[in-house]
Amino acid sequence: MRYFSTRGAGPVSLDEALRCGIASDGGLYLPEQLPTFRLADFDAAESIPEVANVLLSPYFEASVLEDEIEGILAETFSFPIPVTAIEAGDRRVSLLELYHGPTAAFKDVGAGFLAACLSRLEKNAALPLTVLVATSGDTGGAVAAAFDRRPGMRVVVLFPEGRVSARQEHQLCCWSDNVLSLKVKGSFDDCQAMVKAALADAKLAGDYRFSSANSINIGRLLPQSTYYADASLRHFRRTGVKPGFIIPTGNLGNAFACIMAREMGLPIGPIILATNANRTIADYLQTQRWLPRASLQTLASAMDVGDPSNMERLRKLIGDADVLRDQLGVVSVSDDEIKAAMCQDFREFGFATCPHTATATHAWRQLDPALAEKNDWILVATAHPAKFETVVEPLIGERVPLPPELADILSRPTRSVSIDPSLDSLAAALPGIG
Ligand SMILES: *Cc1c(COP(=O)(O)O)cnc(C)c1O
Repeated sequence: MRYFSTRGAGPVSLDEALRCGIASDGGLYLPEQLPTFRLADFDAAESIPEVANVLLSPYFEASVLEDEIEGILAETFSFPIPVTAIEAGDRRVSLLELYHGPTAAFKDVGAGFLAACLSRLEKNAALPLTVLVATSGDTGGAVAAAFDRRPGMRVVVLFPEGRVSARQEHQLCCWSDNVLSLKVKGSFDDCQAMVKAALADAKLAGDYRFSSANSINIGRLLPQSTYYADASLRHFRRTGVKPGFIIPTGNLGNAFACIMAREMGLPIGPIILATNANRTIADYLQTQRWLPRASLQTLASAMDVGDPSNMERLRKLIGDADVLRDQLGVVSVSDDEIKAAMCQDFREFGFATCPHTATATHAWRQLDPALAEKNDWILVATAHPAKFETVVEPLIGERVPLPPELADILSRPTRSVSIDPSLDSLAAALPGIG
């Protein structure tokens, strides 16, 4: 499989696309052509790693990793990703639980895959590779956890000071010497701009052999298609109905993977993006004008993105707003609606949801009745509520028990460095990395 930049550069191999993250012309890598599948192709695939093997093998064609795919997938999918039915009166709805990984959020899947691939690619490198990652909360923890202690690999995490939860911050700052955690005095968009500037700086990038682990890296997206494939196949085999998905959306990486899976022929019905008050995507589909802007701070902080980078991929793969609006729904959810949804989820479903997941449950409750009735819905749960206990617990009036993975992480000591939002301060902080 060959990969091209959304802006035309290429082709490159999977190996190079994984290593570079962003393309030389500033664009994002996409496979030259998506493979397509028939349901029967998955007949022998029962576990998630087996589904992943069928789905992702074509992407590894001509990669030096082609013979290692089984090991990579076993490492990536080392935790369960169940779909559970929710009791909600007479309405059929289920929850895709993406929060059973090491840092209790869906980003563990993409980060684990990228780490499994890169550490194999870098086995014999003379100089370590430095993975840069800007995070609005969850990405950085997942990437740090996935690369922690991997030989030949270093990680630099940039996150906006004061805009992530205390537990998230702990998960960003509790790793070993090969992870440098930088608190940036600015927004997530500043962090993202600093990473882009560093990658574009020839001298720095050469000295440190930079790579990026944001959802601009194709390696983050590919494995995410697997859980949509697996969940939709199971549902379709059981019921004969293609399930719709409602997906909490920020930088558009998770939803993009679902759209990819549908393009590849998986039995997926309607796809609805649930965003928080950051309306860039919702406004684009409504007005057909793409107007990226500064991000607003919301309760669903990992979705506080004003300039979702994966829109560039989506427009290349599917088309502009006039085409996209026929294929996607978008619901923008305010903080008040998120709070109300979390309360209602706890009352009606009997379990707590995180503020991100609550954008999806809200979007589901306010679906047009005809659309709601016509489909079976799978709501995507992107993080465990215990990660956001300061928001969740006062609303539901109860403690959310910590899952064991989180308890383990929160018992570790932390360290971090505070820096200004500029490339110079980033460059000055870099030598501190082990
Ligand atoms: C990152 C994140 C999202 C948004 O995912 P994107 O791929 O950026 O759209 C939603 N929920 C949680 C918990 C996240 O960490």
